[in-house]
Amino acid sequence: MKKNRRQFIYESFAGLATLTMGPYVFGRNHFLADRLYDSKPWIELSKAAYLHNVLQINKIVGGKPIIAVLKNNAYGLGDVQVAKILDNAPGVVAVALVKDERAIALKTAGFSKPVLLMGDFDSATANALVEQEITLSIFSKASFKKISELVESTHKTINVALYIDTGLGRMGIPYKEAIHIGEEVAKNNKLRITHTFSTLTSPKDFAEKQIQRFEEITKELNAKGITTGIKHLAPSLSLLDLPKSHQEAVRPGILLHGSFPMVNRPEAKQYPLQVPYRLKAPIIRLEKLKAGDTIGFSRFYKIKNEEWIATLPVGWADGYDSEAENGALVLLGGELYPVVNVNASHTNVSLGFKTKIKVGDVATLIGPDRPEITPEGFGKLIKGHNYLQINYKESIPKKTYESF
Ligand SMILES: *Cc1c(COP(=O)(O)O)cnc(C)c1O
Repeated sequence: MKKNRRQFIYESFAGLATLTMGPYVFGRNHFLADRLYDSKPWIELSKAAYLHNVLQINKIVGGKPIIAVLKNNAYGLGDVQVAKILDNAPGVVAVALVKDERAIALKTAGFSKPVLLMGDFDSATANALVEQEITLSIFSKASFKKISELVESTHKTINVALYIDTGLGRMGIPYKEAIHIGEEVAKNNKLRITHTFSTLTSPKDFAEKQIQRFEEITKELNAKGITTGIKHLAPSLSLLDLPKSHQEAVRPGILLHGSFPMVNRPEAKQYPLQVPYRLKAPIIRLEKLKAGDTIGFSRFYKIKNEEWIATLPVGWADGYDSEAENGALVLLGGELYPVVNVNASHTNVSLGFKTKIKVGDVATLIGPDRPEITPEGFGKLIKGHNYLQINYKESIPKKTYESF
């Protein structure tokens, strides 16, 4: 790694390093600072990259506020860690997620902005959700009843969102019932509507129809004197495709986490995003295999001559895409090397006939450092999609840096 990339501050010794030893400590202890674990993969997060992506999205949508989607453990990158970064991002007004216990976990970790729960909740978490003032979604008659009962049992005012199904057919009050249920909700003065939202499908013409339905409903509710809170519709693709979808806030996930929802989007040039994370793992075994030797259960990869084969302690059970063995590259000591085998817990990389790489050296499997290993670059190499990190296991440790 070069010095300019050493700017990042290794959280645990930030004060010590910058105050007493200066930046050189990272030059000399490069190896130490670089390898967080000896035997497992980890994820590094960049605050600066997240803040950059927030600014870019703000530009795309002309300054509209952002409700950051942190579902699925912030797309595999660590919901608590990413929420802590976004707590300091002026463009982000709230976060949205789907699991009740994760909403509570963010609040318990000290996240200060409003949290919108877009999914259902269990009776066991209900009181904690109310206590933490998390906005609960009314997405059906049954969920309205459940939340009304919670008002009675807690005697508390509860923040709610009217979640309307304008055509996705997955979650939400069917749009034809939205006015009626909205009126019923408004009659309960212990329910405070802080959001009204829906989500759009991908085909533009139908998404436009959905926007129209949504606007008719919210207009009619407002005309009846019912406040609708923040109105929002747009995940990443819609916010790029349809300015009318921006409403009062946008609700991106993947753009924040550094990828466009599809490859080769024209906006990528005008509004470049930064990949805010690295997936890294140390080499735990290095052996020179001989002509005729094979690697992995399928014995698909055959050694033609002699090759150094490195083993990394990360595999598809950790969420690293098993298709990586069909063309992905990893960065090691400043060079890219091909992945030749992915098993549940191990990945093999070919280092060729001669190498200076050693056991303990750290591979970057995904990160901003080369176009081939960004999420989009990786997706292109394996002919996959841009949402690849969403499967990363929660158990992979995370570390946050000021910048990379
Ligand atoms: C996942 C999700 C989003 C964000 O989607 P991206 O494509 O990642 O931007 C927004 N809204 C809802 C309801 C979602 O489920």
